[in-house]
Amino acid sequence: MNILIKDTLAILYENGGYITKRTNICIKDKIIYAIGDIPEDFTPDEIIDGKNYLASTGLINCHTHSYMSLYRNFADDLSFDDWLFGKIDPLENRTTPDDAYWGAVLSCAEMIKTGTTTFTDMHMFKNMTAKAADDCGMRAVISRGLCGEDESGGGARRLDEAFEEIENFKDNDRISFMLAPHAIYTCNTEYLKKIIGLAIGENLPLNIHLSETRYEVSQALEKYNMTPTKYLDSLGFFEQKTLAAHCVHLSDEDMEILKRNNVSVAANPISNLKLGNGVAPVPKLLDMGVNICIGTDSAASNNSLNLFRDMNFTALIHKGVNEKAQCVSAEDVYRFATVNGAKALSLDDTGELKVGKKADIILLDLNSPSLNPHNNLVSALSYSANGSETDTVIIDGKIVMRKKELLTIDEEKLYFNVNKIMERLSK
Ligand SMILES: [Zn+2]
Repeated sequence: MNILIKDTLAILYENGGYITKRTNICIKDKIIYAIGDIPEDFTPDEIIDGKNYLASTGLINCHTHSYMSLYRNFADDLSFDDWLFGKIDPLENRTTPDDAYWGAVLSCAEMIKTGTTTFTDMHMFKNMTAKAADDCGMRAVISRGLCGEDESGGGARRLDEAFEEIENFKDNDRISFMLAPHAIYTCNTEYLKKIIGLAIGENLPLNIHLSETRYEVSQALEKYNMTPTKYLDSLGFFEQKTLAAHCVHLSDEDMEILKRNNVSVAANPISNLKLGNGVAPVPKLLDMGVNICIGTDSAASNNSLNLFRDMNFTALIHKGVNEKAQCVSAEDVYRFATVNGAKALSLDDTGELKVGKKADIILLDLNSPSLNPHNNLVSALSYSANGSETDTVIIDGKIVMRKKELLTIDEEKLYFNVNKIMERLSK
């Protein structure tokens, strides 16, 4: 299917910076075929009048646990331990794969409606998350969260689950996989070594929660006499391509280790604030040239998968904490949420509106107060947009939302199901 987005305002990357320009975007099957003049050999099957739209590459959410949207607004204002072990864990133990599917569809609905085209997921019910992402037409990099203090404690079973059904998606362009040891405090050294070996052997990138809380760091210092980052480095963890989520409590040496090993850092500002975990040293990592991307974390700790909110926070919080208005610019934030996310996920053919890249495109309604006047539309996306401007979403060359109507999800059925599920689970 060929789509022509005609005469639209588009955010393009030219000569080392973002510019906004009125142009045509030609999509041929899954790819951006041309930007600018319409090639003579291009015949569109569908023409979208782009006059009132701002076209941007789709946003990339680099850390979430999507089925947990079921638990949105269920356990708020609690300490990290009371939240996780007191409220969330017992619910998870009662959640069925079918429940998880609807939770993940709820996440996809929220992400598409707020301009996210790709997400990274780590948790139980990996196969149901993959199915939900595929059914909803999203691009996703999915992994089974791996916990194992020893192999007899379920670690071996979880590893089996991590590889289950991967084969079924080998010809699927939109769904790929990582290996995801949950964190150093839920995996022992032997288990981590086994995962590293498998990741290298199967050529799968690694995804882990790292230095999310001060407690995690003090525990690692006590147990291993090393910070979590140094400990993982000592195991050779970073020899495989790694995406590390949170990275709130890092020493200068930790940051150097991350930089030296090209580890991508997924900042989750709202989740870190909500759980009282602190603020990641994003300006310092940025100065060092670390690849920073943005995640929402789950709706149980955010409470939203709308990446625009996390972009807004990313643009603001470091200025306040560092008492420096120049740190982390609007351009930086837009880059974190798009092309840096693509790099972090090895999806180098996404993340930019550029000829030859995958057609993951969002069209935002220019007739929205938050985008007007059109003084600086990259600033608008980082500071004033709230996601509701998202009108039409194209993923892998297919329209999944047109004029705010989801084409891949029956919303009435979705909301009925998730409420019925939570009535049962919360009893
Ligand atoms: Zn997480």
